[in-house]
Amino acid sequence: MVAVCTTLWLPHRSFEPLSAAAPQSAGGPSNGLEILEVRPSFFVIAGAGANVGVQVGDDGVVVVDAGSAASAPAVLTAIKRISSKPIRYVIDTGPDADHVGGNEALSKAGEKLFGGSNFGGGAPNAADSVAPILSAEGVLRHLATSPAGGWPTEVFHYSRKYMYLNGEAIEVLHQPAAHTDSDVLAFFRRSDVVVAGDVLDTRQFPVIDVERGGSIQGEIAALNRLVDLAVPSVPVVTREAGTIVVPGHGHLCDQYDVVEYRDMVTIIRDRVRDLIKAGRSLTEVKAAQPAKGYMGRYGNQGGAWTTDRFIEAIYRSLAREKS
Ligand SMILES: [Zn+2]
Repeated sequence: MVAVCTTLWLPHRSFEPLSAAAPQSAGGPSNGLEILEVRPSFFVIAGAGANVGVQVGDDGVVVVDAGSAASAPAVLTAIKRISSKPIRYVIDTGPDADHVGGNEALSKAGEKLFGGSNFGGGAPNAADSVAPILSAEGVLRHLATSPAGGWPTEVFHYSRKYMYLNGEAIEVLHQPAAHTDSDVLAFFRRSDVVVAGDVLDTRQFPVIDVERGGSIQGEIAALNRLVDLAVPSVPVVTREAGTIVVPGHGHLCDQYDVVEYRDMVTIIRDRVRDLIKAGRSLTEVKAAQPAKGYMGRYGNQGGAWTTDRFIEAIYRSLAREKS
């Protein structure tokens, strides 16, 4: 059986499902997960809670977002199908459980690159026998109440962390106060892939977690950063080329998709801001339906992230800014 990845396609571009290139396996998706070859050096695993980015090469495997805890065994199986090399890094794009839940399992299955701190025959350093977990500092703060196993082991609080692995530059770019206060974009410069995490969710309006430091202005700034990092297929638009942007959830995007999503979020923000300027209360703002025109595509009446909650998050972050 050949896995045909229907949920992740960029509609106008064709990607190779891994099973077509993995004759040694039984074929088909790994335990319900879909594996997509985005570039020869870069894969996306879908169906594990959040989209999981997998960069491969001679150095080993770099994973961006571990997926949920429940999916971790299946994610590990999928990664083994992509590469026989060890996991060298796990990068968290944010603190949500569907992104960090698999941290511990993936880290333990991995191995630090150039561990080697037991020269001289001393006891092996436990930190060398696992893959480091890298994130913005805030992820560690948000996870402080959960068991220590899956906590990030390398955190940073500046705007850009960089590495050079598997023959390419990897930039981990902190976007302050967007979905939360600890979101990063992971940009693989040679693969020309950006993993965006929860600042981009093509299934719905972006989740803005005001309690954990998210804000509408930071969300729009993060989307603008994505637009700036990505290059579309111009001047030859018919070519299947251009930067691939991997959202936290939903289908793969090119720059045009991100521009459209950014414009949508900006238009709704502007409408809410105008209503606030006109002195409307939160109830009145909601009643005015500032997300009109986009609710069919991105809105939710029920579930964890309703249209009302999105509007409320915009209202609250704009009100906080004023005060
Ligand atoms: Zn998410």
